[in-house]
Amino acid sequence: MAYKLKKAGFKNVVVFEQGKDVGGKSRTIYHRGVPQEFGTCYGQPDYEKIYDLIREHDAGDILPMPGPDMWVDTPAGKVPLTTSQYYALEARKLKPDLANGTEGIFFQSAVQKYIGIHRSLFGEYEGMLMPRPNRTVLDATDKNFLKFLQEHDIEILKALFLPAATMQGYGHVDEISALYAMMWLTPNFLLGLLQRTNGESNIKIVSKGFQFLWKEMTRQNNLDVRLNSQVIGIIRSRKGFRIIYKDCKFWRLEKFDFLILTPTMKSLSNVIAFNDEENSLFQKTFGYYFITTLADTTYGRRSGAPTGYYADNIKGKIDNFAWGFRDSYASLNDIVGTNYSSGVYPGGTDGKKIQSSIFYQMPQSRPDKKIARRMLREHIRSVHQARVLNLEKQIVWDYFPRYSVSDMATGILWDIFDMQGKYGIWYIGSSVSYESLNGVIGYNNLLLKHAELPRK
Ligand SMILES: Cc1cc2nc3c(=O)[nH]c(=O)nc-3n(C[C@H](O)[C@H](O)[C@H](O)COP(=O)(O)OP(=O)(O)OC[C@H]3O[C@@H](n4cnc5c(N)ncnc54)[C@H](O)[C@@H]3O)c2cc1C
Repeated sequence: MAYKLKKAGFKNVVVFEQGKDVGGKSRTIYHRGVPQEFGTCYGQPDYEKIYDLIREHDAGDILPMPGPDMWVDTPAGKVPLTTSQYYALEARKLKPDLANGTEGIFFQSAVQKYIGIHRSLFGEYEGMLMPRPNRTVLDATDKNFLKFLQEHDIEILKALFLPAATMQGYGHVDEISALYAMMWLTPNFLLGLLQRTNGESNIKIVSKGFQFLWKEMTRQNNLDVRLNSQVIGIIRSRKGFRIIYKDCKFWRLEKFDFLILTPTMKSLSNVIAFNDEENSLFQKTFGYYFITTLADTTYGRRSGAPTGYYADNIKGKIDNFAWGFRDSYASLNDIVGTNYSSGVYPGGTDGKKIQSSIFYQMPQSRPDKKIARRMLREHIRSVHQARVLNLEKQIVWDYFPRYSVSDMATGILWDIFDMQGKYGIWYIGSSVSYESLNGVIGYNNLLLKHAELPRK
């Protein structure tokens, strides 16, 4: 947003950032010469505007991500399946009488049907937030996504939702509002998943990590970002805003005539006195936690994919169970198939045969880090039969501040959009849009296009 405003001619755009770096939930840490993504990691077919920013700032190569394997529970323990095998297995569970070899057609026809429904409900639009749906559409989507799929006889798509959304932290299919699910699963995304360009995956990773983009944008455009500057108070008056912030040890105060709030709105209630209208919209969000841990391990038991999702752990909803992993070096260097499973290649630029992977856990209640680490060690030992050499770093994120099914059905996201600028404030970031780059940036673009710009 700061970059876009500066480009539009605004001279005094100041960003206050409490951390020592820009990036927020895009956090890339180099380990053994490899960028390890602790936060933002993938792009999908709806990410063209973000890829444009990467290209414009020469912020690394946009590379296809090797497809994940789905590890499913069997009496003999967890076994890896390709995503197509997994979809076929789930299709068979739903329709035991499906003729052999027709699972793919069954699945694809559900995708086509879903695309038709999506287009008839929301039409064509830009960004992630569709134009405000009318009352009939809000009523038709006033349910969790599983119910929505069942009503339309396309329940098989819950199999796709698991890796494409739940694993990314976007909620369980039987809990999340159908509206959120459809904001993420657009026709363009689904078509892109099915129709690979030149046989390549349409899910992308970036060679220098996503945080590099934000750092380069700040540097190349000389943005006025005040690092280590936590905003601790905002005083509103008719003339504008006074920002009180902590600059290392010192408290400072600056005046502005327009304010753009970016963190989770609910978390700001002790920083700014929200009025009744703001409170009624912002206080209702809730979120879960995403734990990312970097683990150095021996090679152990591997499939042919350097990314794995543990399907039954995700479905089981047991706090602190591991949900997935990504071996970043192999993913970035496209070491897959038997090249990966046989372990012939090193696991980092130092040439050592050590696997460095990011593991994901997603508890609903605030985790105890020690318990999360213990459970992760046990998982690596029992599933991969590997030895943990080091658990390098662990971050617990507050994740996906969201509204309940019934709040979404009131049109709350559009009520917030309609309030933009009314009090000399724009409210942006994931809590008013969606916990993803295209959610946040798509929302910024929408605001810049449709809301009244502050005075220059
Ligand atoms: C593990 C994980 C994996 C993810 N994977 C993907 C992915 O693959 N693809 C994707 O698109 N997205 C992904 N995301 C989500 C994406 O990173 C976020 O949705 C996005 O970065 C949110 O941007 P934001 O500006 O809303 O908030 P944030 O990135 O959280 O930024 C908010 C900033 O505000 C600062 N701040 C907060 N309070 C104050 C204060 N009082 N004073 C000063 N500064 C303050 C914070 O330090 C932070 O830098 C992932 C996130 C996580 C955690």
